[in-house]
Amino acid sequence: MARYTGPACRLCRREGEKLYLKGERCYSDKCAVDKRKTAPGQHGNVRSKMSDFGIQLRQKQRLKRIYNVLEAPFRRIFQIAVQAKGKTGEALIQNLELRLDNIVYRSGFASSRRASRQLVRHNHILLNGKRCNMPSCVLKPTDVVSVVESSKSIPAVLASTESCKRDGHGVPAWLKADHVAMTCQVLAVPPREDIHIPVREQLVVELYSK
Ligand code: SF4
Repeated sequence: MARYTGPACRLCRREGEKLYLKGERCYSDKCAVDKRKTAPGQHGNVRSKMSDFGIQLRQKQRLKRIYNVLEAPFRRIFQIAVQAKGKTGEALIQNLELRLDNIVYRSGFASSRRASRQLVRHNHILLNGKRCNMPSCVLKPTDVVSVVESSKSIPAVLASTESCKRDGHGVPAWLKADHVAMTCQVLAVPPREDIHIPVREQLVVELYSK
């Protein structure tokens, strides 16, 4: 299963926005976007006017990078969204939001989507009581995600749930998380206004509709 293994901060600098890809570091003064305002690379400080295509492309790249999804699976998720009822852009974001790795992250069991993907791939997560190591698995309301009993003492999991309880960032209203039992239930498909990501999904739809 392919994945991006390069530097995460470079992706944020490319988008010129904090995408929160590295957990605690993103909230500290070590954040690369805060320290260096330019895009990465030799010509990062050269500013030129972006075309309409360029703006749409950047929105698509930003969405992929936030959810840690590569181009081929992203296109498949988009095709599913096209066939769904309602707005394609909203369905696209909802399908991304309901991925297992994202739910583990939103529940507070991991400090970033990258860390949650690793937890899932390494068999530390149960879906409805059964081991599931597919980060791309799309959940539905009433599904329950939990941390495997022997994995509840992993320092990174404990640190992440503690930080989530302390700072209050992470668990949205459409999830019901229990940080003592380390379980989380999906209560509903999240409405777009409850998904706080800096992306204009309509531009992604326009890009793929050309
Ligand atoms: Fe992005 Fe986090 Fe790196 Fe900042 S620290 S540039 S938000 S990944």
